[in-house]
Amino acid sequence: MTSPWSTPQRTVLISGASITGPALAYWLHRAGFGVTVVEKASAPRGGGYPIDIRGTAIEVVRRMGILPQLRDAHVDTGRFTFLDADGGLVAALGADTVAGSVQGQDLEVRRGDLTAILYGAVREDVELLFDDSVDTLDQSGPGVDVTFRSGTRRTFDLVLGADGIHSRTRELLLGPEEQFDRYLGYAVAVCTVPNTFGLSREVALWSTPGRSAALYATGDGDELNAFLTFHQPERPLAALRDPQARWDLVARTFAGAGWEVPGIVGAMRHADDLFFDVVSQIRMPTWSNGRVALAGDAAYAPSFLTGQGSSLALVGAYMLADSLTRHSDHAAAFAAYERDTREFVTMNQALVDNGGARLFPTTAEALERRNAMLRGLAAMPATTPPPAHSALVLPELAPTP
Ligand SMILES: Cc1cc2nc3c(=O)[nH]c(=O)nc-3n(C[C@H](O)[C@H](O)[C@H](O)COP(=O)(O)OP(=O)(O)OC[C@H]3O[C@@H](n4cnc5c(N)ncnc54)[C@H](O)[C@@H]3O)c2cc1C
Repeated sequence: MTSPWSTPQRTVLISGASITGPALAYWLHRAGFGVTVVEKASAPRGGGYPIDIRGTAIEVVRRMGILPQLRDAHVDTGRFTFLDADGGLVAALGADTVAGSVQGQDLEVRRGDLTAILYGAVREDVELLFDDSVDTLDQSGPGVDVTFRSGTRRTFDLVLGADGIHSRTRELLLGPEEQFDRYLGYAVAVCTVPNTFGLSREVALWSTPGRSAALYATGDGDELNAFLTFHQPERPLAALRDPQARWDLVARTFAGAGWEVPGIVGAMRHADDLFFDVVSQIRMPTWSNGRVALAGDAAYAPSFLTGQGSSLALVGAYMLADSLTRHSDHAAAFAAYERDTREFVTMNQALVDNGGARLFPTTAEALERRNAMLRGLAAMPATTPPPAHSALVLPELAPTP
């Protein structure tokens, strides 16, 4: 029985149920919070490209008890083949060498598999509101008064934004995305295409200066993930807004390309799961305001060029929940979260400054340098993962009520 003198349960609303959201929900429920998660999609979003879980993030999923499930879902890509303009072989490397992963330790899983496993870990324990989103946040009272798109109004002690790179929570809290967006000069288009190429657990990457096309076989099934990545010095704003402009830009950029690129571009035109976005990082001077804080891509998206987005999401969720467990005062908790996590975030975002975009060179000279580097790696396959992957040692689990 609850003692009449015990502290009332703190309530938290988490916006977003992809990777950061369910990870936060897991740890906060464990710490005794009353957790509600709102997700604008009608169900957990499945499918998607492969993502990596590495270094410190492996310890997070081990502590969540989902490491065995994730090991079962591990894709184990064997080979990464680099191709020139005509589809000729430049180099073939072990996938771990390219990704900077530790073989047998770091994990690569389909994004939808990770989301499903995280969702499975919380769905019995927290309140999940699908097909809804936060419309307004009002912090003038003792809690956060939330109006949902559905019209419902509720008050929570805290609100946490885990709603991705184009976070609505961030916009409501701190203003337009532009001020925090560090555009990295690329756009990316991803979709699923039929595996008519006979690829199995491997990646084939075709490159010319400023243009790359990749086919990514996460298994030996009938489908592949196709990626088109291309250099765009200015943000392609029209393409972000308008599907026809988007399609025109992709078709124009890859006109005359060799290898399987015309087939990939053609398949993208008809794909029903096309994902298109600019490649950006989110860099913010602070991750909270009052009783509202941000985590994962919403606060510090590192971009897929670092391959660290999911790992930062998992580690950031752990650190935020841990701080809230240790500090009953939310301001102290948010300050501790930033103090203890920011260096890890900065190191991982900097991977792209130190040549993280080297797989996608924009000039003929840079492409030649990349190819020479790859041939060198092929002759000397052992690599060490970047220290950034493991730079944060997780605090011991805080005691739970
Ligand atoms: C092409 C591509 C390749 C990538 N490859 C890798 C990789 O190899 N390795 C890696 O680690 N990472 C990779 N990433 C990045 C990785 O997917 C993200 O960093 C990671 O998913 C961050 O998770 P998140 O939960 O913070 O945000 P997201 O996964 O973006 O999730 C945000 C969630 O919030 C929901 N949402 C949005 N707005 C609202 C709203 N207003 N109300 C309610 N819900 C809302 C969305 O529907 C979504 O479910 C890649 C990303 C892309 C685009």
